[in-house]
Parts: sequence; C-alpha cells; structure tokens
Amino acid sequence: MNIIMFGPPGAGKGSVSAFITKEFHYPHIAAGDIIRSEAKKPHNKVEAFMKKGELVPDQVMMELIEERLHQPDCKKGFILDGFPRTIAQAEFLEHQNIHIDTVINLVVDEEEIIKRLSGRMMDPKTGEIYNIYTMKLPKGIKKESLTQRPDDKPEVIRKRLQVYNEQTAPVMKYYQKSKVLIDVDANPDLEKVVDQVRLVLKNKRK
Ligand code: AMP
Repeated sequence: MNIIMFGPPGAGKGSVSAFITKEFHYPHIAAGDIIRSEAKKPHNKVEAFMKKGELVPDQVMMELIEERLHQPDCKKGFILDGFPRTIAQAEFLEHQNIHIDTVINLVVDEEEIIKRLSGRMMDPKTGEIYNIYTMKLPKGIKKESLTQRPDDKPEVIRKRLQVYNEQTAPVMKYYQKSKVLIDVDANPDLEKVVDQVRLVLKNKRK
C-alpha cells in the first residue's frame, strides 16, 4: 500500500509514521530527513531554503524523492511523510505512475501546532525528541541540555505555517478529487492518533 502522511508542520506526521512503519513494514520516507541530510553536504542547494522555513525548489525535491522511491524496499509500498507539499509534486507522482492508495490528513488546531513546534527539543546525544510543553521529561534529562531545530524558532515557525497554508494545503483538494483523502483528528495524544490511523489502514487493506 502506498500511503501519504499529510498535514501541517507539527501535526505529528513523523511520529505517527514511525509507529506505522514498524507495524505495517512499509518504509518510512521523510522528505524533511532527506533534506536535512542533503543540507549537510558542501555547496548544497537546500540549506538556505530550509533555514528560512521555505520549501526547497520542486525540481530538487522531486529528484531526491524519485531516487528514494526507486529503491527496492519501496516495491511493496511506502509511507511518504512530507511529500508532496505542492501541486507540482503531487502531479509528479501521478506522471511517474506512482499510484497513491491513501492520504492520511492529520487535522490539528493552529494553537496546538505552535505549542508542539516551539516545545520540540532534541537530546543531541541520543537524537531522542521531547516536548517541553506537552510532556514530562524523563528522569535524568535536563531541559538545558536539549537543543532546538533551527527552523522551530518562532519566526521560522510562522513562515512554515504560511508556506503550508499557501502552497501545501491546496494539495488536499487534489487528493479529495480522487477520493483517497481521509481526515484524522490529530489534536489528541499521539497514542490515540496512531490508533485511529491504524484502524483506517487496516480497513483499507481488507
Ligand atoms: P519537515 O521536517 O518535514 O518539516 O521539513 C523540513 C524542511 O525541509 C521544510 O521546511 C522544507 O524546507 C524542506 N522540505 C521538506 N519536505 C519538502 C517538500 N516536499 N518540498 C520542498 N521542501 C521540503
């Protein structure tokens, strides 16, 4: 099954996909992770866009995704997280004859998004992600030792939300037309959201 995990920044696309990939055994392809690893290369074409909270150019993103989707582990299906983010990217999948079975649309209030993104912190030693506003930190983990993604700073968050509303939200209509878009309320705790997504996918697989 070819699945798209759709929704605004902070909706939980990555966290939900991490659970689903373990249970359904489809590879989790996160466009943001591909971009962050590309941004580490010298003279790359993506870092400047990411830092400002803007989308990297479609052509660059499409080449990176095309390369990943053609790897053998994607033959039986995949979970695409953070792609497509523009109509041109959605059309690209169609032109490549990549059929999409389900688009999970994680619907979340803007207030909740800001709380999630501005509180998202990483332990630089383990890579573990925490949220200083929505969860209690485990014993031994100190807030001061955690780091923040540069694009989770307030001014960049505002830009990312603006970009989502202007460029990415229209992609919803694109998939509504082909009747593959399924809304899931992503305001509750992660566990409840994963339960809902699991149910949707199990019904789809029947
Ligand atoms: P994310 O981790 O999904 O929030 O993505 C981090 C950043 O990577 C975004 O703010 C964009 O700069 C870039 N990016 C991720 N996915 C895409 C995409 N589909 N198209 C263009 N840029 C993207």
